[in-house]
Amino acid sequence: MKILKFGGTSVGTAESIRNVKEIIRGQKGRKIVVVSAMSGVTNKLVEIAEAQKSGNEQQVEGLMLEIKLKHLHFIEELIENKETRKLTENLFLELYRQLEETLQLKPLSEAAVITFGETFLSLIFSQFLEEQGVSNTLLDAKDFMQVSNVENPHIQTVQELLKATLKREVTSEVYITQGFIRIDRNKNVSTLKRGGSDYTATIIGAAVNATEVQIWTDIDGFHNNDPRFVDHTQTLTHLTFEEAAELAYFGAKILHPQTVSPVKERNIPIYLKNTFTPEAPGTCISSKIHGSGLKAISAKDGITAIKIKSNRMLMAHGFLKKIFDVFDKHETAIDMITTSEIAISLTIDDTQNLDKILYELDEYGEITVDSNHSIICVVGEGVINDHETFRLFELLNDLPVRMISYGGSSNNISLLVDTKNKVQALKLLHHKLFEGKILKKT
Ligand code: ASP
Ligand code: MG
Repeated sequence: MKILKFGGTSVGTAESIRNVKEIIRGQKGRKIVVVSAMSGVTNKLVEIAEAQKSGNEQQVEGLMLEIKLKHLHFIEELIENKETRKLTENLFLELYRQLEETLQLKPLSEAAVITFGETFLSLIFSQFLEEQGVSNTLLDAKDFMQVSNVENPHIQTVQELLKATLKREVTSEVYITQGFIRIDRNKNVSTLKRGGSDYTATIIGAAVNATEVQIWTDIDGFHNNDPRFVDHTQTLTHLTFEEAAELAYFGAKILHPQTVSPVKERNIPIYLKNTFTPEAPGTCISSKIHGSGLKAISAKDGITAIKIKSNRMLMAHGFLKKIFDVFDKHETAIDMITTSEIAISLTIDDTQNLDKILYELDEYGEITVDSNHSIICVVGEGVINDHETFRLFELLNDLPVRMISYGGSSNNISLLVDTKNKVQALKLLHHKLFEGKILKKT
């Protein structure tokens, strides 16, 4: 069994969805196709849930109408056969009514509202494929995506539920289901967090012990730097699970950060492919190491650095524990840490509880907070041993660097810079590390 996930812009227009059909048709064997919402729809649903909560009926009505028309137009554009089109419209309108009902429930479940984007598109997509002669079975992800702990899904539970679902349903070569949706420990509809459809694909991949998971988007896989800011970036054709996880976590927008973990343990490769250029190799993520050393640079914005400076013996034993306990108590993850004898600097990206954290840290010393920073992450298996890596320290000549983390793992070196210097830092690093030297063929 293969898992194919299509999301965002690759299912955004009638033309792109026709490409998707060809991609599915071109692959032999049984497959489960995971779809996310049409692009822009989840954001609209988030707005609807918020407007509903604040009692802004007019806004809810306006946005709901937009969602309805967007999908009805899409059906009209996509489905040629009159009868199938009518049937699809009716099935869609039935789901739309369910969304209206969900909005009336008290208390309002935001997750139940925002997952409708996936429910809508999977229905339309399934009907479209059927009309085009690709017979398929639509599965309801709520029947099997029981994930109590988002960070650590219990794959066996999903495996058993999915097995039972497949047994009950009509046997097909092609199954279609929704990404993003999960059922939580209280049996309520919840999500795998924004962008979570990739994660759905690898959870299902692990549950069926798939031969591979393909994630189809609108770019050619991972690049060695952020193509939005840097020219002449190159696609990385191979990455290890660890490299991909580091890049996804540290800002490479192409993949949801948790995507890699379910398949890594089972050694199931992930292929990142571009729906618009399916012949391009994309990126293969597996356990195989293809050339060690420096591979890629990515950046993560929205980072806040906190420095705690104390005249007391900061590094006396037990001191760091006390500091970390404060963050732990407020459920805030720390990304980077550097220490000296009298000070510790660390970074967070979730500032929801920052005020409370600062209040509690106050007793340990003088606190400085620097917001609007970016972590620049340099990644590659064994990057810390690469002969070219020293060049990244030349950046210190050109730009102020707030923190450096080297040696935490052999695959990653992180630098913290002010976000206003981020693009320059990415460009300089690209030049220093990649240009003028022949890139290792990966
Ligand atoms: N539709 C969801 C989102 O926009 C999930 C996804 O796209 O992966 O976050
Ligand atoms: Mg995505």
